[in-house]
Amino acid sequence: MVEHQKKEPCQKKLKTVGHKKEKLFLEKLHKTSRLGGALAFLGKEGIGKKLLALEFSKGLLCQKGEVFGCDECSVCRKINKFIEQLSLSSDRAELPKEFFYFVETEEGKSVNPSPLGEGAIVKKNFAFLIGGHPDLIMVVPDGSQIKIDQIRHLQDYLSLKPLSKHRVVIIDDAHLMNVAAQNALLKTLEEPPPDTLFILVAKNEGQLLPTILSRCRVLQFKPLTKEEIDEILLRLKLQDISQSVKEILHTEGSLAFLNLLKDNKIEKFLEKVNDYPNLSVEEIINLSEEFEKLDKPLKELLLTLLDKLLLNKTLKGKLPLENYERVSSLVAETLKGIKRGIKAKLAMENIFFLLKE
Ligand SMILES: [Zn+2]
Repeated sequence: MVEHQKKEPCQKKLKTVGHKKEKLFLEKLHKTSRLGGALAFLGKEGIGKKLLALEFSKGLLCQKGEVFGCDECSVCRKINKFIEQLSLSSDRAELPKEFFYFVETEEGKSVNPSPLGEGAIVKKNFAFLIGGHPDLIMVVPDGSQIKIDQIRHLQDYLSLKPLSKHRVVIIDDAHLMNVAAQNALLKTLEEPPPDTLFILVAKNEGQLLPTILSRCRVLQFKPLTKEEIDEILLRLKLQDISQSVKEILHTEGSLAFLNLLKDNKIEKFLEKVNDYPNLSVEEIINLSEEFEKLDKPLKELLLTLLDKLLLNKTLKGKLPLENYERVSSLVAETLKGIKRGIKAKLAMENIFFLLKE
């Protein structure tokens, strides 16, 4: 018994940085007695929309009822574990199986399994994620899309009574819902189950049907400021990443590139680019040869990042606009060439020589 009640060590908590206006709105919403309908969190990738959606959901299910969760009650702790696992896994397949909701779909019928009952589920089709509490549902793309079957399974699930006062459905990457899925969801949004809140998280609102958006309270998220980016890096203990990487994140106002930038090859290359005034001819040739050996997606990514890095320098007045424009158009040409499969070594050399002029 004693063993059972022993407290787990304090979990590392991730907190959304910035977005004060949106948080204030959510605080007010939390206090309203009847909560239902839909919110849309729109804005570029890597700025904390999904994390805030999860924190707000945690607060709605928290035993102490704190707006973004108390982080102490058993519900908060379980949801925090889910949030932590989500942030650690770059791929859904890496998530612990306990968060997956599978359905059996024999003869087109789904069998409603108990979501948390161990061994009770015939694991056939992935439908969505259950985030540490049966009333926290997260729909994520199955492959490259959110499919109509996933929405249908969601509707089946929502027809069951919630366990707590509220239920939250986060639809992550909602812009990846195909049209059939969106139309199916629309029916639910038009007559939402009581006390169920939908949060659609999307980077590209253009791919959402206007009828869907018209059913949502839209929160438009702004990119992060330089200070906010630095604060997040500090919290993630990444404050010592290279200056070139930091500059790209600052220019982007987002951390979307962070995982890619942590790749050692990319970081080293960008460090060299950052130091272009001091590069010798020999180094430029070596660097361009190294570049040629990379595979196509990495080449494209590096050129895109190089352009962002140089734009940042230009904005800071460290590189004349005219030079940037010339290099930038050469980068664009090289990108097109790479798509056609041409060798990029010479183009890369030219980019460096142009920079040194
Ligand atoms: Zn709590």
